[in-house]
Amino acid sequence: MSTAALRRVVVVGNGIAGLTAADTLRDTGFDGELTIVGDEPHPAYSRPALSKALLLDHDDHAAHRLAPSAHGATELLGVRATGLDPDRRRVRLDDGTELPYDGVVLATGSRARRLSALAGEVTLRGLDDALGLRGRLAGRPSVVVVGGGPLGMEIASGCLAAGCTVTLVSQGLPLTVQLGPYLAGVFVGAARERGLTVVDTESARLEGPEHGPRVVLAEGTVLEAGLVVSAVGDVPNTEWLAGTGLVERGLVPVDARGLARPGIAAAGDLVGLPTPSGPRRIPLWSSAIEQAKAAARALVHGGAAPPLEFQPYFWTEQFGLNLKAVGPLPPAGEPEYLAGGPGGGPALMRWPHPDGTGTVAALDHRIPVPRLRRLSRSAA
Ligand SMILES: Cc1cc2nc3c(=O)[nH]c(=O)nc-3n(C[C@H](O)[C@H](O)[C@H](O)COP(=O)(O)OP(=O)(O)OC[C@H]3O[C@@H](n4cnc5c(N)ncnc54)[C@H](O)[C@@H]3O)c2cc1C
Repeated sequence: MSTAALRRVVVVGNGIAGLTAADTLRDTGFDGELTIVGDEPHPAYSRPALSKALLLDHDDHAAHRLAPSAHGATELLGVRATGLDPDRRRVRLDDGTELPYDGVVLATGSRARRLSALAGEVTLRGLDDALGLRGRLAGRPSVVVVGGGPLGMEIASGCLAAGCTVTLVSQGLPLTVQLGPYLAGVFVGAARERGLTVVDTESARLEGPEHGPRVVLAEGTVLEAGLVVSAVGDVPNTEWLAGTGLVERGLVPVDARGLARPGIAAAGDLVGLPTPSGPRRIPLWSSAIEQAKAAARALVHGGAAPPLEFQPYFWTEQFGLNLKAVGPLPPAGEPEYLAGGPGGGPALMRWPHPDGTGTVAALDHRIPVPRLRRLSRSAA
């Protein structure tokens, strides 16, 4: 489809994938009617900031704000899409109305997976969750965080910094699945030094009371806390696409350009990217951005658009450490040190891969990401 045939585009989801798709549509020359539908009442914001600066920052409530966009779309905020009719090219909204489109971008992301239906189980996915959590931390409750991934560890770090006593419940050493044993060891060491108690268990469940749940570990130990936060993964928001044939195993599989079908692009946390072993999610911020750019171009230019190609990028800030990593994660084994060393302090590390590329990680906020990208492509 060319920009001429594409007069009306609806973007469903007002996260970073939706925002980037809208911006990219304009960059490619699309000057037709652009509508963004988002069920949160807020303009798009930085989700990664919610578990980092926003949790810690008590004066300036702006850590999550993004620069205003120039896409000029009609933004329907606080409005939920409830269905898609691909044959009639219509998006159904929760007020019963329909939006006709020539092209649509599916960008409804994901939501926090929960361990229970208890009202007292706190999760962190959206801005309102973060503001609520920060408000609770002001009372310095004792906290149990369930989940040893980057999000659980960042929340634990924020809770400790707020003056709370914090226990983190994890299956195995926290961060090992995402960052590999070497970097996980560095982070867990820093966390313990700052006072985090780490409890290793095979599984954990929550039980009542409704507003103050307890955490019950596989071996029967019960952890009581003033605040229980779970960070145990996310679930793609694809239910509104039921009956369209676009969803497989809870994901929207796309082709190498980000198209689910001609005229239907998808990007971000709800997407399964094509891999030799089947559709695979890469639910990360920079991945959502690159996917959305590719998908928007494909909506306009179809098969003439370049396929998605990107170097994975991940960062985290926790327990006084700041990590930026480019390349596939988790890396295996010990790294080569390009700067600094294993004794702590700023460091630049590289794990070489057989094809000459590498995974590069900096524990040094001064090293710019483009340098990491270059070092990941080639050691020289
Ligand atoms: C607290 C937190 C910290 C994170 N930190 C990092 C990090 O440090 N580094 C990193 O790489 N990644 C991080 N991530 C992951 C990253 O934020 C996500 O990968 C990224 O936000 C995905 O963008 P998205 O636009 O696909 O989805 P989302 O950001 O989830 O946006 C989707 C939007 O669509 C809305 N929506 C859902 N259903 C509907 C519907 N039916 N109708 C209308 N609107 C709907 C949602 O409410 C949401 O506003 C973090 C995530 C969280 C939650």
